[in-house]
Amino acid sequence: MAARSHKAQKVLERMGKKLNRQMVGSLVACVHCGNCTDSCHYVLANPGDPTYAPAWKADKIRSIFKRHYDWTGRIFPWWVHARTLSTDQDLEDLKDIVFGKCTNCRRCTINCPMGVDLATFNRMVRGLLVSVGVMPEGVAVVSKDQWEIGNQMGVLKEDYVETLEWLTEELQSEYGESYPGIPIDKENADVVYSINPREVKYDPRTISDAAMIFNEAGENWTMPSDGWDMTNFGLFSGDDDLGGATARRLYDKVTELKGKKLVISECGHGYRSTRCEGPNWAQMDVDFPMESSVITMTRYIKEGKIKIDQTKNTVPVTFHDSCNYGRSCGMVEEPRELLRMVCTDFREMYPCGTENYCCTGGGGAMSMSEYTPQRLKSAKVKADQLKATGAKIVVTTCHNCVDGLTDLIKHYKLGMEVTQLVNLVAKALVLEPKVAEVPAEAAPAIAEAGALAGCRILVADDEPDFVTFVSTVLEDNGATVLKATDGNEAFDMAKRERPDLITLDISMPGKSGVEVFELLRKTDETSQIPVCIITGRPEMRQLIYDRPVPPPEGYLDKPVDEEGILMNVKKTLKLTAAD
Ligand code: SF4
Ligand code: SF4
Repeated sequence: MAARSHKAQKVLERMGKKLNRQMVGSLVACVHCGNCTDSCHYVLANPGDPTYAPAWKADKIRSIFKRHYDWTGRIFPWWVHARTLSTDQDLEDLKDIVFGKCTNCRRCTINCPMGVDLATFNRMVRGLLVSVGVMPEGVAVVSKDQWEIGNQMGVLKEDYVETLEWLTEELQSEYGESYPGIPIDKENADVVYSINPREVKYDPRTISDAAMIFNEAGENWTMPSDGWDMTNFGLFSGDDDLGGATARRLYDKVTELKGKKLVISECGHGYRSTRCEGPNWAQMDVDFPMESSVITMTRYIKEGKIKIDQTKNTVPVTFHDSCNYGRSCGMVEEPRELLRMVCTDFREMYPCGTENYCCTGGGGAMSMSEYTPQRLKSAKVKADQLKATGAKIVVTTCHNCVDGLTDLIKHYKLGMEVTQLVNLVAKALVLEPKVAEVPAEAAPAIAEAGALAGCRILVADDEPDFVTFVSTVLEDNGATVLKATDGNEAFDMAKRERPDLITLDISMPGKSGVEVFELLRKTDETSQIPVCIITGRPEMRQLIYDRPVPPPEGYLDKPVDEEGILMNVKKTLKLTAAD
């Protein structure tokens, strides 16, 4: 028999150290009744393919456990189908199962009469593979960013702080110079607010919406200048060391600021990691309370600290339960209670709550582009669920789900918008006079003032309707717009015209947006032009950021609205000007 590979040997040795009572209970309890089979979205999308069944996937792990850590497999391996790991290819095959065929959503868990929790030992195996360097490329990149830069999207401290300051300026330009904005590193605050880096990078409106709500409630709050990321890729990669280091950074910062409570913005895995798993990974006694912003916003309404006008949200909405938030943390009724307070037409989707199907982007799947086709195929059940509601907007309390849902909505052409509770609450806010009665002349309305006057912007996108929409928004705000509908034309025009900003689609004929972007960065005439990627393919995001060139200054997922375009274009121009 050939010698076992070094990596396989390490995985087998380390497995013994990772096993705990909960995992062993799940590894030995399965009676192969098949009850869990149809609970998995991968199974529903691949009828007749047994390799997607939860029990089949679990058996691939269970057989290794039995061979090395269970007496039955050591004595009668042939009887209990025990097997070992021998080659690096065995590890690669296992990787494609634990990362590519399971989002750790735990829907099979709640449908198992024996209480088998596949997601728990699936995560354990992910961690073992990561420990020997076997993982999808995206997992390696994101983990590295979280280890080295302190957040999983590689947002630099100066960019983060600059974004918060810029949002404060935006709020003050709208509501007057005395508007409180976003306090940074304020000591002894009653609330320290932590966010997902996606909010800084792709969705700053969620931060300013939260700021509006805190300020309107008269909260004594702050945001930390570092250690601010409440997400934790350790949950997805199975790396408990990363989980602990990430959680500790945030806890330490709250302690340093003498904050009284940590409020966690809407993110399923961020909430689970920070509030539930983090203290164990970090081996810390956390001596301040932690709560979801959903709870905070609901309390403000109930206590009369903010006033809400439901009729500002009349478009039909449905709600998608994040697996981590709902199934794993039991937050099922809380978001619904808030949703009913701030909108008039809430339509439940079925099944929902703890029985809800995964958005299919969970478990870090959005970072694993090699599995995108099977992910989108498995999203069919979620697409059917969404469509059946007749809603125009799907609300979710998770940034990961926002990406997963946006991707599947585009793939299945559902024409729905994805948003979060913070956006709906902010929209429904009834502003008190201190904010609402700012004289019109003191609030420079973006459109009237021509905020982009003098800017020349190249819009590169192969969808004529989209080019028309973006151009109209930009021209209405004073910009001069250049248009290109394929990659070659976009690059040539950029080189010739040297615009102040380029908005760039990724899927275009001629050269793709990824190629154009890299070429722009490597060409002297265009290397300094800021680029805002606007794409309907969120799975391509990592590809752009993995280029060996400086990253784009802006990024937006389609569908986009007027406000989103303007905010990101202005932010991109401003950040570049400040460099
Ligand atoms: S429902 Fe539970 S016991 Fe039955 S096959 Fe699935 S994991 Fe095994
Ligand atoms: S955890 Fe979710 S994705 Fe994984 S096997 Fe179970 S139902 Fe399927």
